[in-house]
Amino acid sequence: MPSLLVIGAGPAGLTAAYEASKLGLNPTLVESDRQVGGLSRTVNYRGYRFDIGGHRFFSKVQLINNMWEEMLGEDFLLRPRLSRIYYHNHFFNYPLKAFDALIGLGPIEAALVGLSYTKARLLPRQEETSFEQWVSNRFGDRLYRIFFKTYTEKVWGIPCNEISADWAAQRIKNLSLREAVLGALLSTNRTNDGELITTLIERFQYPRLGPGMMWECCRDLLAARGHETIEGVHVESIRHHRGRVEAVYGRTGDGQRAEFGADNFISTMPLRELVFSLDPMPPDHVLQAANYLRYRDYLTVVLIVKRESVFPDNWIYIHSPEVRMGRIQNYKNWSPEMVPDQSRTSLGLEYFLWEKDDEWRWSEQRLIERAIKECSQIGLIDAGEVEDGTVVRMKKAYPVYDQHYKTSLAILREYIESFSNLQTVGRNGLHRYNNQDHSMLTGIFAARNIIGERNDVWSVNTEMEYHEEARAEKAPARDRLVPTMIPCGVSVGADKPVDADKPVDADKPVDADKPVGADKPVGADKIDDELISAAFARLDPLALGVSVSIVTALSLFLSTVILLLKGGEIIGPNLSLLSNFFPGFSLTWGGALIGMIEAGIVGFGLGMLIAYLRNWGIEAYAALLSHRAQVKAQNEVLDKIL
Ligand SMILES: Cc1cc2nc3c(=O)[nH]c(=O)nc-3n(C[C@H](O)[C@H](O)[C@H](O)COP(=O)(O)OP(=O)(O)OC[C@H]3O[C@@H](n4cnc5c(N)ncnc54)[C@H](O)[C@@H]3O)c2cc1C
Repeated sequence: MPSLLVIGAGPAGLTAAYEASKLGLNPTLVESDRQVGGLSRTVNYRGYRFDIGGHRFFSKVQLINNMWEEMLGEDFLLRPRLSRIYYHNHFFNYPLKAFDALIGLGPIEAALVGLSYTKARLLPRQEETSFEQWVSNRFGDRLYRIFFKTYTEKVWGIPCNEISADWAAQRIKNLSLREAVLGALLSTNRTNDGELITTLIERFQYPRLGPGMMWECCRDLLAARGHETIEGVHVESIRHHRGRVEAVYGRTGDGQRAEFGADNFISTMPLRELVFSLDPMPPDHVLQAANYLRYRDYLTVVLIVKRESVFPDNWIYIHSPEVRMGRIQNYKNWSPEMVPDQSRTSLGLEYFLWEKDDEWRWSEQRLIERAIKECSQIGLIDAGEVEDGTVVRMKKAYPVYDQHYKTSLAILREYIESFSNLQTVGRNGLHRYNNQDHSMLTGIFAARNIIGERNDVWSVNTEMEYHEEARAEKAPARDRLVPTMIPCGVSVGADKPVDADKPVDADKPVDADKPVGADKPVGADKIDDELISAAFARLDPLALGVSVSIVTALSLFLSTVILLLKGGEIIGPNLSLLSNFFPGFSLTWGGALIGMIEAGIVGFGLGMLIAYLRNWGIEAYAALLSHRAQVKAQNEVLDKIL
């Protein structure tokens, strides 16, 4: 059984090991912390549980949804979502609602916002390469300054006009235009259960005891199958020779050195750190590229408040520039079990900063005092209501997309790919601003690559939908074991029988040149364009005019001829009424010819008219769909900033 060493027991590392175990490999994980889950861990302070931020679970990747269900079963809750924006002493609904915004801003500011919006729509900025330009073009300058600028700059610590267009493109841009149009055409905006996808913004899934529960469960499932997660060992160096990693060296908290050998290695440690751990060191240009990668750090202050209910939201975006916090979480509203005592509320104030900032080194006490002051300043609590607090600092929470990162990534990717048994995955491993689901997907892809698949982990991005069915057709021709994992909470036996006789897709051919997962995002827009133009195909007015003309002309001519051949005292009394419309038409051979010409002309005009009207109608409908999709995309924009 080939062995695999996974560096890091966050979502990507644990998922890679989980998948590898299913594939019949023998994974072991090394984690520097004393807790699994990485950025998606749940911290437990005196029974109060909290996330690093709040971690919603939702994914368009069915494979991931299945995996989450498989791991947690009934412990995976469906929760309602409420989140508002706090600005200038007012709570604005989020997504923004026109009437509410009008009340909150006051009539004069609202009018100015309206004017600036109209200007942006009529005279948009031609260039749309920065976050500032993107938002201003859609909301107007004034609304951008009120609702986006301060908050985004709090989060990223970079002026909005310096935030790369790539970031806007990956996180925001027209994310749902495709979805909405396809949904309208194909009813794809429903899940397998028939549930509307739009509800994802109103509800989300969440483990009963926070996201860490998922990852602790994953670790336990792996342990039950004999796969160890070694906690408290920080990987420092990776020895390699002739394009193969031979061993990984780590250090425990008490300074002991540990060596790990394996046939294959998957790393989820930050890419910059991975490159600097390699022994021998990579060439200078690679080290230089790694040095350019930057990360935004994060700090959360948790306050325990002696009140049963402080506010109804899961979280509130704090746009007001008077306070430093960027967002505030109310963990009890994520799951009631996040607090040990229902008469108390735990609030998580989120601060985004650089490790080099003074604030990062402030004492816990000072940070808590500032948090209490800010919370009372915006009227959420009275200072005397806070009975306790704690601080958690998290380095490298956000990979930064700046001017250099793309060029650096290309160099680093090429270098890492020169190793035959080392892959880097996950959020910081790929320097990709991914949520859990896409971080996990990269772990799955990497595990599958070990058994011969050719998945491109670098192509996984936030808009990606991955279809397992597509993979089934491309899976390599080899026997694979697919044991079932039993959700946590249900007793798990390490001896769970494996259906070894059941090869999956063993006889299916492999499309070796086409990496799985790479195909959907790359060609997606083109496919959609084709689909949309097929569904909304324009009618050619000339062609329809000629067709209708021929049909009407021949119909009238043949009807007249048949009646003439039948003969009788009075020929065609009803048809002859058409002479009121077609001058010169009569139930005679000459009249038949004149009627045919006139009916042809009228038919031609009618056909042209129908074609034009239909084309205009379709264009208006397509524009309406596009507008709706844009509104939806805009409504979700804040979710994409964080
Ligand atoms: C504030 C915030 C809010 C978020 N909200 C959401 C959300 O709502 N929904 C969502 O799906 N996602 C959310 N995310 C993203 C999510 O946290 C990440 O996508 C996910 O945790 C990435 O998983 P990972 O395994 O790639 O990396 P990580 O979670 O960073 O895990 C990497 C692990 O590797 C370990 N490690 C690193 N270096 C070494 C080393 N040298 N030796 C040994 N071990 C090492 C680390 O200790 C860590 O445990 C949020 C992130 C943040 C910061």
